[in-house]
Amino acid sequence: MQQLPVFLNLRGWPCLVIGAGQVGAGKAEVLAAAGGRVRVVAPEACESAAELAHYGRVELRRGRFEASDLEGRKLVVAATDDRALNRRIVALAESRGILANSASDARYGHFSMPAIVDRSPVLAAVSTGGASPSLARYVRARLETLIPRSFGRLAELARAARPEVNTRLPRLSDRRAFWDRVFEGPIAEMAFAGRIEEARAALAAALDDARAAGDGARNPTGEVYLVGAGPGDPDLLTFRAMRLMQQADVVVYDRLVSPGVLSLVRRDAEKVYAGKRRDEHAIRQPDINRLLVRLAREGRRVLRLKGGDPFIFGRGGEEIATLADEGIPFQVVPGVTAAAGCAAYAGIPLTHRDHAHSCTFVTGNLKNGHAALDWPAVARPGQTIVVYMGLVGLREICAGLVEHGLDAATPAALVEQGTTESQRVVEGTLATLAERVEGAGVVPPTLVIVGEVVRLRGKLDWFRTEARGAGAPPPRRAHATLAYTGPEPALPSDGEGGGKGAAGR
Ligand code: SAH
Repeated sequence: MQQLPVFLNLRGWPCLVIGAGQVGAGKAEVLAAAGGRVRVVAPEACESAAELAHYGRVELRRGRFEASDLEGRKLVVAATDDRALNRRIVALAESRGILANSASDARYGHFSMPAIVDRSPVLAAVSTGGASPSLARYVRARLETLIPRSFGRLAELARAARPEVNTRLPRLSDRRAFWDRVFEGPIAEMAFAGRIEEARAALAAALDDARAAGDGARNPTGEVYLVGAGPGDPDLLTFRAMRLMQQADVVVYDRLVSPGVLSLVRRDAEKVYAGKRRDEHAIRQPDINRLLVRLAREGRRVLRLKGGDPFIFGRGGEEIATLADEGIPFQVVPGVTAAAGCAAYAGIPLTHRDHAHSCTFVTGNLKNGHAALDWPAVARPGQTIVVYMGLVGLREICAGLVEHGLDAATPAALVEQGTTESQRVVEGTLATLAERVEGAGVVPPTLVIVGEVVRLRGKLDWFRTEARGAGAPPPRRAHATLAYTGPEPALPSDGEGGGKGAAGR
């Protein structure tokens, strides 16, 4: 070990930073944040340094460094862009017994400043001993994703409960088991979600329970996490989704959850498939609702994993209504909905200053064999229409839009298995899309996007394919383009042929 990590209590310490560029400003800012009384010395100050001084967070002396600047200082950071000067400052400071650091070279000086993950009062600090500050930042970024933003609340909760836990669970092993349950379970999640009172009550109950059980390890209430798994690409999961996936005891997932996402669920969690393929309801919705209640009542942490976002055509509302009625604690974690994911990965902006000022999500599900859409509201120019579950009724939907006033030449695209490795896009117009899709042998899930914005895809796609240049390595994820290669059929100029002829039956 080349260095000893310690956490300095800087409150009120007179600190000195020499140099007021970006680096100096950054150092001055953390020193001040940790309670140091910071003076910055530099002939010129960058904007952030000037701002810190302006708001009185640090004191700024404009001028060259002089040895007398060190007087009365306890900690010095040399952050000029002159390495030799930094080294001299460090030597000078150390000869006077002042803790010193050179920002340009960690070998000089008695301390270095780590990359920090600040979840006060919890702090994680990363050092590479000066080998590679970039590597330290990289490790920090990894930690940032693992430690929730609101982690500090959990620490505060633990701090408040600690004396009582120590008294009531005198055995160390019991206490450890107890805290493990708290930190990994619903109590921690309540704290992260800001439900502090609830978390406090649950912690007190868990403590009663642990003492009664004598093993410090039982968890009286389960909880349901209704989590959006996004459209397929695991990279699109939220940090919170990822964390809850690691904690769940049992997962109830549906067909839209991609294998890539599912593979990230805790390995030993029980996995329950809940459907639903079209017409194949593995478990009916009321039964799913009841299943969630039963699993949570068994004291388990239940992950209800749903494709996309749970509140967009996901029946998430019904599931939480049942949980609420039954008094089961739950939380909802949003996900990237298919419209957002498919649009981004297909290069289609859903709104655009010049082409679409609004965007409507509709379901193309058939009722008694017909798409039940509010046609006049949907078939309006100047908006983008995204149709979920629109594959089976595609022909009818395209024809309906034309019948209700949209131009048959309105661009439209179908995105197949959006954001996954198998993504394909079939492009056409309201007149041609259905036929092209039928010829392309597409595999669900598919999403239909209608509107002028689809035209922009050509440009964005050109950028992706051509701009890389010949011989460039293939993109990491294939944004596969399309299947249909034939020419765009000429549209007859009168409404009859354009709409109903080509797109209709
Ligand atoms: N809650 C989900 C939608 C559920 S409805 C969400 O927010 O995305 C199911 C429909 O979503 C599918 O029929 C399909 O139209 C669409 N869908 C979901 N994932 C998709 C994907 N990866 N590619 C294309 N469409 C998708």
